[in-house]
Amino acid sequence: MVAPRRLPMTLLLAGLVLAGVALPAAWGMQAGDSTRLLPGAIDDLGRLRQESNDARFEVLITILEERGIAYEVQEFANEHANRSPRPVGRNIVMTFGSGPRDLVVGAHFDAVALPDGFSEGMVDNGAAAIIVMRVAEALQGLELSHRVRVVLFDMEEIGLLGSRHYVSTEDGERAAAMLNLDVSAAGDAVLFGPAGNAGNELVYDAAWQTCADADLTCVEFANYPSSDDRSFQAAGVPNISIAVMPEIEAHQMWLIMNARESSGLAPGFRTHTMSTLHSPNDTLDEVQPEAMALAYRMVLETLLYLDTILAEGQ
Ligand SMILES: [Zn+2]
Repeated sequence: MVAPRRLPMTLLLAGLVLAGVALPAAWGMQAGDSTRLLPGAIDDLGRLRQESNDARFEVLITILEERGIAYEVQEFANEHANRSPRPVGRNIVMTFGSGPRDLVVGAHFDAVALPDGFSEGMVDNGAAAIIVMRVAEALQGLELSHRVRVVLFDMEEIGLLGSRHYVSTEDGERAAAMLNLDVSAAGDAVLFGPAGNAGNELVYDAAWQTCADADLTCVEFANYPSSDDRSFQAAGVPNISIAVMPEIEAHQMWLIMNARESSGLAPGFRTHTMSTLHSPNDTLDEVQPEAMALAYRMVLETLLYLDTILAEGQ
């Protein structure tokens, strides 16, 4: 665990306010009261309940157009046709600011096909997709020291294909750091990992800085579930994967993933969230707007902190 350093987060926040960014109520609240809602986020998420990932893609594009957020679509071939019949995947890429290096914020928007239909994919990973779109909205008009790319990755569930494609492009080579958001729909604790990979210290420092500044409950994992962060790790880009869960579950999951047979948990024990994912139970009922607001704050503050400290180091 890295000791957090105090840095002028209040200056960053003041900058956001001066830039006229509409901040959720959480920003003005005292520590511990960071659970105010992102207005309309649950309504946005409800629109993602569709019968296919192509339909989810169309909804996301529609929301971006409604909000006036510019985007590009990055197409790639599906190399895992045995896992999905869709021939082509489509990442949605939003770009803010400018600079020789990029900071990337990502969340996958695709949901899993179930033996008996199609998952609503609200916890995994619709909520995070909506959250990073709100991060994109907040970035509009901000003075940034980097080019920031907010990417909604496709085909994560069939082998991280969207993120693998992204890092293989020229744009991918510009990435200086990547924040991945996966499973951030309920609870009061922030989880992140997999810690310990050389080269990622700066990103973990930034995450812990946000935990300290915003007085958040954070749990760092050495072993951590795989997501699009692994594509960036494979490409040598400093990265972290972030989630939000109930605090008890966070610790239970830590034990399952890191203590394994010496966890003291009943054999075969799974947390509520673990048994929700990739099942018919991954529905809108599982989502708490307070948790989405918490994840939003974690990602946006960590991103702005990285934007500042990486610029200072250049
Ligand atoms: Zn996921």
